[in-house]
Amino acid sequence: MSGRHHLFIPGPSNLPDRVLRAMDRPTIDHRGPTFRALTFEMQRRLRWVFGCAGPVITYPASGSGAWEAAMVNTLSPGDKVLMCETGQFATLWHDIAGRLGLEAELIAGDWRHGADAEAIGAQLQADTGHTIKAVCVVHNETSTGCTSDIAAVRRAMDAAGHPALLMVDTISSLGSLPYRADDWGVDVTIAGSQKGLMLPPGLSFNAVSPKALAASETAKLPKSYWAWQPMIALNEKGFFPYTPATNTLYGVIEALKMMEEEGLDAIFARHARHAAATRAAAAAWGLELQCADPAQASDVLTTLRVPEGHSADALRATALERFDLSLGNGLGRLADKVFRIGHLGDLNDLSLMSAISGVEMSLGLVGIPHRKGGVLAAMDVLAGAPEAMAERGAA
Ligand code: PLP
Repeated sequence: MSGRHHLFIPGPSNLPDRVLRAMDRPTIDHRGPTFRALTFEMQRRLRWVFGCAGPVITYPASGSGAWEAAMVNTLSPGDKVLMCETGQFATLWHDIAGRLGLEAELIAGDWRHGADAEAIGAQLQADTGHTIKAVCVVHNETSTGCTSDIAAVRRAMDAAGHPALLMVDTISSLGSLPYRADDWGVDVTIAGSQKGLMLPPGLSFNAVSPKALAASETAKLPKSYWAWQPMIALNEKGFFPYTPATNTLYGVIEALKMMEEEGLDAIFARHARHAAATRAAAAAWGLELQCADPAQASDVLTTLRVPEGHSADALRATALERFDLSLGNGLGRLADKVFRIGHLGDLNDLSLMSAISGVEMSLGLVGIPHRKGGVLAAMDVLAGAPEAMAERGAA
C-alpha cells in the first residue's frame, strides 16, 4: 500500500522523526565520559517527567519487567499485597505477584471502572495488624480505557493510617496524563518507554521513593538482574551494572527534550482534546464506551464496545486491509467484543481524523450497526465549533 501506515493501537505509539534521528547514531562506549554525561542528563529529565526527586531506574526490558522489579525489590515471600481488578493489565500484574510467592489479594472489578479508592481504604482499615505490605494500582488500564484516581488512593491510605507501600503502573499514562509521583506519595512508579514517552518498546522504569528504598534493604524475594542497589550505585557515577540500551537512551533524551519544549500541561491538554474528539465520534456512531464512568474515561485511548452478535476483530481486520489502519484488539475477556483507538504520544488533529475516518468507513463495510456522523462530530471538537455541535445536538 502506498503512503504511511496508520498506527492507532494504544502503544507502542508513533515515534517522532526527531527521536528516530536521535537514535540513528554510532553506539558509544558505555563506560566512557560521554556516556556518563548522557546518564546524568537522562536521570535529570526522567525525574522531571515522573515528578520525583529520587532515583529513576532504567531497565532494558518491557514494562512487565518493571512490574516484577518493583515487587522483588520491596517485598518478601508470603507478603500480602492489595490489588484492584480494573482489567487485563491489573490481572496480569496480579498473576505475576502470585507467581513470585506473594499473597496477592484482588478487589474484584467489572473491567468498566478504575480502582475503587473507598474499597482500598476499607481493606486497609480492617488490616489492623498491617499485614498488607503494598497497594498496587494501574493508573491507566489500557484494556478498558478507564483511569484510576491515584491521589484518591493515597488519601484513602492516609485516612486509614496504613503504612503499606503504594505502587502505581503508569505504563500507559506517563507523559500523557497528569502524574506526580512525589506529590501523590507514590513509592514505586512503574513505566515503559513505548507509549506516552514516544520511544520504541524495550525500556522500562522504576521511580523509587525513600520509603521504597528503605524497604528494599530488608526485602527477601530473590533478585539479581532487577536489584536496585547496584543500579543506583552505578547510576550515581553515570554508569550501569550491565550493558544499557545505549541508542534508545539517546532517544529518551530527545523525546524528553521535545516534551519539555511542548510543556507537560500542553501535552496533557492535547491528549484531552483528542480523547474528547474520539468520544464525540463514538457518541455520534452510537457505540458504547467500555469505560462506564465518564469521569474516569481515559485521555490515552478509547475502548469501544461493538453491539452483541458483531465482531470487533472483523472490524479491525477490515480497517487494516482496506485502510492500512491498525486498531487495538480486545484483551482477555474483552476479546472480539471491543476495539481500542489509541490517541497518545506523537499525534496531531489530522492524524487522529485519519483513524476516525477509517473506523467509520470500516463500520459500514463490515455491517456493524451505527449512525454516520462520527467524523463530523470529531471535526467539530477539534475545530472548536460549539455552534455546529449544539446545532446537531452533539455538544
Ligand atoms: N501495564 C499496562 C497498563 C500496559 O498497558 C502494558 C502494556 O501494554 C503493560 C503493563 C505490560 O507492559 P509490556 O507489554 O511492555 O511488558
